[in-house]
Amino acid sequence: MKLIYLGTAAAEGVPAVFCNCPVCTEARRLKGKNLRTRAQVVFDGELSIDFPPDAYVHAALHDFDLSGIRYLLVTHSHMDHFYASDFVLRGGVYAHEMTSPTLEIFANAEVLEIYAEQTRREQQKEVKDAIRLHTIHPFERFSFGDYTVLSLAACHSSREPMLYYIEKDGKRVLHLHDSGPLPESTWQALGGLEGRLDLINFDCTFVHRETYAGARHMGLDENMRTFDRLAAMGLADERTKKVITHFSHNSYPTEEALLRAEREYGVIAAYDGMTLEI
Ligand SMILES: [Zn+2]
Ligand SMILES: [Zn+2]
Ligand SMILES: [Zn+2]
Repeated sequence: MKLIYLGTAAAEGVPAVFCNCPVCTEARRLKGKNLRTRAQVVFDGELSIDFPPDAYVHAALHDFDLSGIRYLLVTHSHMDHFYASDFVLRGGVYAHEMTSPTLEIFANAEVLEIYAEQTRREQQKEVKDAIRLHTIHPFERFSFGDYTVLSLAACHSSREPMLYYIEKDGKRVLHLHDSGPLPESTWQALGGLEGRLDLINFDCTFVHRETYAGARHMGLDENMRTFDRLAAMGLADERTKKVITHFSHNSYPTEEALLRAEREYGVIAAYDGMTLEI
């Protein structure tokens, strides 16, 4: 399974949209890996987790074929994870020779309300008909193509936020953002899984900053506590890749800080356009 991390920032991006703090000013000056767009990760070119406002830029910058996405799993309704207006342009005169004529979107009811609102004025019938919508909730197991998914509950500040366990061809991935410390209900559901995880995507919004009580995101401290509990359950070991992503400018995600995280915690710090094979 091949993963591409197309966007690796928190909601406001790095540099943040309207920010002139030292981190954002430096990121604008240095460019390259220091520029981080809103979160999107794609499996084998066909399954995307989230569809941010920067998906268009991802396609242009990384020569990525957005029309190849057949399945879209949305974590939650925050604007950095779901930007539906672009789906007006998925077909008709706006898109020729699409790799996958159809798209299936799996999301909670609030996300699908946003989809309806953002597309209702301009989406033509043929475009609308090629997109199938599925309402899902936490703790549902469902399949599409070669994938099996278990939706999990997140601890986050939107309605019914979800995390995902994804299995394909014997490979297992746990996608854990956006979320603070995982809810006990999610730990219970994880207890029903078998086999070692090949990769975990961690919410690392806070990077080296402490994950405070009641937080709706995590830092490296909570990432490690989560990993240790998964390891104690037999779901993770030293071969499990630990990817950190969704960095905020408020947490100083400089190259130096992330190299230190890699050294000290054995994690892989994602950057825009990074690919990984598992
Ligand atoms: Zn987010
Ligand atoms: Zn800033
Ligand atoms: Zn969020």
